[in-house]
Amino acid sequence: MRNLIGPEMVKIPFSKATPMCPALLDAAPCAMPAAGSPAAIYQLAVHPDTPDLVEASLTLPADGAGEMWLGAQGVTRGLSHQILQPRCGAEPLVEQDRGWVKPAGCRRVDWQIRFDTVRDDGADPARQRSLYFPDRSWWLLSEGTSLLRPKHAGLARLTANLPVLGGGEPAASAWFLPDGDAPPAFFALGNVAGTTVGAQGVRVTHVADRPEAVWRMGLIALQRRAMAWLTEVMRVERGGRLLVVWLGMNPASGRASGAAGDRSFVSGYVAGDPRGSSLSLMTLAHEQFHQLAALTRPGDHPAWYGESLAQFYALRALSRLGSRQREIQALRDKFIDASRPVPATLLDWQRRHEEGDAAAYPQFYTQGATFWHQLDALLRQATEGQHTLDQDLPALLALPTDAATPLPATLRQQWRTQVGPAVDVLIRRYVGG
Ligand SMILES: [Zn+2]
Repeated sequence: MRNLIGPEMVKIPFSKATPMCPALLDAAPCAMPAAGSPAAIYQLAVHPDTPDLVEASLTLPADGAGEMWLGAQGVTRGLSHQILQPRCGAEPLVEQDRGWVKPAGCRRVDWQIRFDTVRDDGADPARQRSLYFPDRSWWLLSEGTSLLRPKHAGLARLTANLPVLGGGEPAASAWFLPDGDAPPAFFALGNVAGTTVGAQGVRVTHVADRPEAVWRMGLIALQRRAMAWLTEVMRVERGGRLLVVWLGMNPASGRASGAAGDRSFVSGYVAGDPRGSSLSLMTLAHEQFHQLAALTRPGDHPAWYGESLAQFYALRALSRLGSRQREIQALRDKFIDASRPVPATLLDWQRRHEEGDAAAYPQFYTQGATFWHQLDALLRQATEGQHTLDQDLPALLALPTDAATPLPATLRQQWRTQVGPAVDVLIRRYVGG
């Protein structure tokens, strides 16, 4: 625990303090509170004797003195929280509606975060846990399971008594937390030696539980190639700083999972697995797609839309950049299969997902990727390869869609002109509407 610095905040070593909104880069005017302006402030304090039990506090601005519901954002996404004993002074908060109620007159709430200690069998990124790595004395903070946030949380600031590394840029030694509805954020705390690589103005800092294993597997080089290709095909026009945290998963799980926020993501890898690099490449390209989409074009879309595009382009990245042809084909076939029956449309699955049906989400990856693949094939066929889905990707990301207009109307008209009625048949069958 010799790396603990504090009690005061420490300077973040690589801060450029560029003023930008981490969650809403293109929003104008910038919704981020300026340093020193009233905003909710989260402070973490790690104590050497109890490294898995981290003290946390939330100090609300003056307008936050009223009664207020507080809870972990991830609970609404089916995750379990890691919050212990939330209280105002000595007064415990009352539990209510999968969270707690802060009484009026209290502006500071204290609690403890119970970090899971990572053992040899690794951790599953999809559970989005806050983790403590005893061998290297660093911590992974998962905001979604560990911080008490108000229901309509605005951007908030995070500081700690040891170095913090996140995605985006810190300002005045504090990191910004995403808005309530935005994807989650992850931070590495403590003794973290990150490796930073860049492509097209997007800098990615990698942190790993076992840096040498991640390096040996070529995962950082793979990520860089995936990023270079994705920034090109997505036409990413602005730079940014992203954080990737690599977590070794138990080989017995037989899968690699990930969890993406707008600026930080956690990617699983299976150390020593000969299938590792293809599976890991697909997973990281998928998560990277989400981040780059958020970085450049924040069009509002339902889950089916973002997930299916992310998966289709993850498979495209895998085909272009992967080296094991048989594995790549097997992975592609798992997702893209035009002969698979289509008993329900993607809009149906979206409704079922919103009603809490866990069977719906995997359909976004399989039926969704199959839809985009077939649309791409129709476009290529009709234009003798002159026009592909890639040309429409920036517009697909920029234009908002919803249940009433599941695909951008201008693009649908353009495809109709290029392909003819077959495009409407395909859309009705797979997407609906
Ligand atoms: Zn995804």
